[in-house]
Amino acid sequence: MKKDYYEILGVQKNASSDDIKKAYRSKAKTCHPDLNPDNKKESEEKFKELSEAYEVLMDPQKRQLYDHHGHEGVSQTFRGGGFSWDDFHHFEDLQDILGNLFGGSIFGDFFGGARSTGQRSRRGGDLHVILSVTLEDIVNRVTKKFKINRYEACSACSGQGGHDLVNCPQCGGRGQVRTQSRSIFGTFASISACPQCGGRGQIVKNVCTSCQGQGRIKKQRTIEIKVPQGVAQGQYIVLRGEGHFGPGGKGSIIVEFEEKPHQYFERRGYDLYIRMETPYSMLINGGVLHIPGLNGSKEKVKVPKGSTAPQIVRARGKGMPRPDSGRGDLYVELDLKPLAKKDKELKDVLEQLKKYEGPSAPLTRGR
Ligand SMILES: [Zn+2]
Ligand SMILES: [Zn+2]
Repeated sequence: MKKDYYEILGVQKNASSDDIKKAYRSKAKTCHPDLNPDNKKESEEKFKELSEAYEVLMDPQKRQLYDHHGHEGVSQTFRGGGFSWDDFHHFEDLQDILGNLFGGSIFGDFFGGARSTGQRSRRGGDLHVILSVTLEDIVNRVTKKFKINRYEACSACSGQGGHDLVNCPQCGGRGQVRTQSRSIFGTFASISACPQCGGRGQIVKNVCTSCQGQGRIKKQRTIEIKVPQGVAQGQYIVLRGEGHFGPGGKGSIIVEFEEKPHQYFERRGYDLYIRMETPYSMLINGGVLHIPGLNGSKEKVKVPKGSTAPQIVRARGKGMPRPDSGRGDLYVELDLKPLAKKDKELKDVLEQLKKYEGPSAPLTRGR
């Protein structure tokens, strides 16, 4: 059973990012593995758990997914399905937080390949989009378009930031530098990404003028997406490789669906509810109601003879489509249709009707 991220950091559900940063700061200081040489394994686990919680709660998009769907909701945003240091975006924060303690260098060997290769921080970021859809859009699986602004590889330099790569003079092409630092806790040797080349091992001789050496350019794009069959409020799909460009790979677009309220229908799971005016004569004699369906055609629903109002009639298989196959049910709430005219003739008809009505009697509750 995975622990709650808010619990791990010891913050409230509505904590601000400042609160979260403060909590992470104080906890990271106590459980950093380099400060606990006697139980390194355990503190490594704790530190990683803490950093996973921090990673999710500091990212508004991931935090929203977590709030709505729990651990399940964010696992997809981690490459490989579970959190690893590859997914951590806040090494700079860590440096900021622990920098003073360690005289500026905190990246010990335990961060493993993730940091030393410099790949992590170079993957493009994700984009989170909330897409409003109507019930009609869902039933008819329409194609929706939305605009995004994303970084793409600069075409002039193929994302390199410039031309003529040469080995970095500071690290000699290794991409890493080894530093020793002294602190009250002792001397620490650590490997960190080379500050000059950012871990790449190479630098460009001629900086690209199109992107000013960034290797990426912001572009507005229109993305098309087919609304998945039966999709429901809060569900999302991940468009891998459609997010921001980075030298370590492209990020994703996470499209979350938001259902617009419908004029007539209410959705509960895959069932639909609608209220229909039903003429008195149809309640008595039975008949067929024509319901405006979400796919544009009329759904016929049989009203049994001797119905009353209010009463609910169920039409099997006429609700929302399910993602795999089949449909939920349609529930029609019968309400009495008011009479259109109240003239003398109608008054006579109603007088006649009295013969058939008999006296009123109380009804058993909960029928
Ligand atoms: Zn360029
Ligand atoms: Zn270098």
